[in-house]
Amino acid sequence: MSEERIGVYPGTFDPVTLGHMDIIRRGAKLVDRLIVGVTTNPSKSPMFSDDERLAMVRREVADCEGAIEVVHFNSLLMDFAMREGARIIIRGLRAVADFEYEFQMAGMNQQLNDQIETVFLMADVAYQPIASRLVKEIALYGGDVAKFVPPGVEADVVRRVVEMGRRGD
Ligand code: ADP
Repeated sequence: MSEERIGVYPGTFDPVTLGHMDIIRRGAKLVDRLIVGVTTNPSKSPMFSDDERLAMVRREVADCEGAIEVVHFNSLLMDFAMREGARIIIRGLRAVADFEYEFQMAGMNQQLNDQIETVFLMADVAYQPIASRLVKEIALYGGDVAKFVPPGVEADVVRRVVEMGRRGD
């Protein structure tokens, strides 16, 4: 096993928000190498494809400090973490809403692999209420999402909403 402390921060990132970016920055400080794992969540219908989300997250982390890699994965999180040599899973926690789901997931992951620890980080209070789902909803109704996502992502979201309007989605 490598001596390097490797962490995985998994998520859908549809789209990546300032909340995610804050967790990425905090997580990168805790490990030697942070792997942001961009996954497909079959229960959510995504606004952006896997490739688009991967490219978006890569572009946004390019200026972040630390060794950060962005990788797509489509397998069990614990298998992905093992493959990457990671022993730490980083998750963000927002107020009570995330708690039950995160608690269950961390508990079951612990049983799948007890060599991997899940670490929960809190975003800056200003970013805590931000959720990708709400960013999409606000944008679809023509609202301004500039306070919730990086500028490049705002442009991506606006462009996608226009495209969806043309297609009549
Ligand atoms: P998932 O589909 O795995 O929930 P998300 O992209 O929605 O993927 O979220 C990835 C991780 O980031 C989760 O741990 C989630 O709780 C966390 N997260 C999302 N938004 C915020 C935020 N505003 N503050 C803190 N953590 C967040």
